[in-house]
Amino acid sequence: MDCILKLLVLAVLSVTGQGKLLRGSFWHITDLHWDPTYRLAAGNSGSVCNSSGSRPTPQAGKFGDYLCDSPWDLISSSVHAMKDILPDPDFIIWTGDDTPHVPNEDLGEEAVLRIIGNLTHIIKTLFPQTKVYSALGNHDYHPKSQLPPTQNNIYEQTQKLWEDWLDPASRETFKKGGYYTEKLLNQTGFRVLVLNTNLYYDQNKITENMEDPADQFKWAGQVLAEAAKNKEKVYIVGHIPPGFFEKKRHKPWFRPQFNKHYIELIQKYHDIIIGQFFGHHHTDSFRMFYSTSGSPINAMFLSPGVTPWKTTLPGVEDGANNPAIRVFEYNNKTLLVEDIVTYYLNLTYANLAHARWEKEYRLTEAFRVPDASPASMHRVLERIAHENCYLQKYYDFNSVSYDLSVCNADCRIDHVCAIREVGFEAYERCVEKEGASSAMPALLTIVFALAISLWASY
Ligand SMILES: [Zn+2]
Ligand SMILES: [Zn+2]
Repeated sequence: MDCILKLLVLAVLSVTGQGKLLRGSFWHITDLHWDPTYRLAAGNSGSVCNSSGSRPTPQAGKFGDYLCDSPWDLISSSVHAMKDILPDPDFIIWTGDDTPHVPNEDLGEEAVLRIIGNLTHIIKTLFPQTKVYSALGNHDYHPKSQLPPTQNNIYEQTQKLWEDWLDPASRETFKKGGYYTEKLLNQTGFRVLVLNTNLYYDQNKITENMEDPADQFKWAGQVLAEAAKNKEKVYIVGHIPPGFFEKKRHKPWFRPQFNKHYIELIQKYHDIIIGQFFGHHHTDSFRMFYSTSGSPINAMFLSPGVTPWKTTLPGVEDGANNPAIRVFEYNNKTLLVEDIVTYYLNLTYANLAHARWEKEYRLTEAFRVPDASPASMHRVLERIAHENCYLQKYYDFNSVSYDLSVCNADCRIDHVCAIREVGFEAYERCVEKEGASSAMPALLTIVFALAISLWASY
């Protein structure tokens, strides 16, 4: 009896000990959007920043305003918060969009490079020993979103800024197309692909009629085929995700042919792709990928942004967010994402008192799943789709606890279909189907009320 007890204790100790040993962590930050024009004294338009456009900013404070991109105090506060919370991550993923939302005439190539340079500098200063996997966003170019499929000054200069973070081979592909691949932390069996998905953006006029801009798909296919042969495990990193914006119905980012190609790539190599990490939305969401027979095969994590900037995208009502930074905990033998912890700054409170970065939520606790595997993320989606309390919790987190209004039936369809279906046709079918099923109870109530009133009148 004694012996069995001892064995049991040893087994528990070894499991928990090993569990700890296997768990690594990394930061994911995105969409910092520094606005260098932010000044607390409002100008003639009543605004403290150029990125608010013509919108006045009476609530503006030291750490920013929901109508503006990030002031330097917010940028600095977020990188220092990373240093305080997890000072020694295994690596950092940084998925771009560094410049403010202002007209092209207000920026220019030099300004874009200066902004990328300043953000690179603060990250390097606070994390001098940390490997950073950095992707270009659609705002990291002049003119914005027009990232070309060929070598150019911005790719070259950015490559120089990021030189310490890039392997020699990565420097070459980055200069040519803004993408690269290398072994994750130089370890055999693990790989990172950093993509320039801005080439697939429907606002990018240069790549509009191209079949495979910068040969990126061909290259990614070859890298993944080789990785599969070598039994590597892969993370994919990028800025603009495929699929739809969950805050605006029928709003995709990729052109249709590129969206299709991306999904095919994931379906073909899903068993070696362990995680996909993207930004651009500024909101907190995720995307599911299914096999042709319908089983969950991959999850893409969309991390919320640092900038609180309220989007001016027509049709989005109150699209601001609180600034967020995020830790991924992963198994360093399998790369499985075991948990996700999001930290945030309540901007209103920060401006009134001080910058208090706090934990917003931990995925496994909030959604009662064992990890962030495709099967678990599918369960999270099912909970969101079918249980109101989970839908509301997800919706609060979507804007980083900024918009705490009720997610109604239409809102539910927008979010559930965007998460479930990355493919264009499948998304439209989902919207139609969910719309019909959510209309059913309302329709039944009317029929029932009619029947009652008819019965009563007899
Ligand atoms: Zn952005
Ligand atoms: Zn973007």
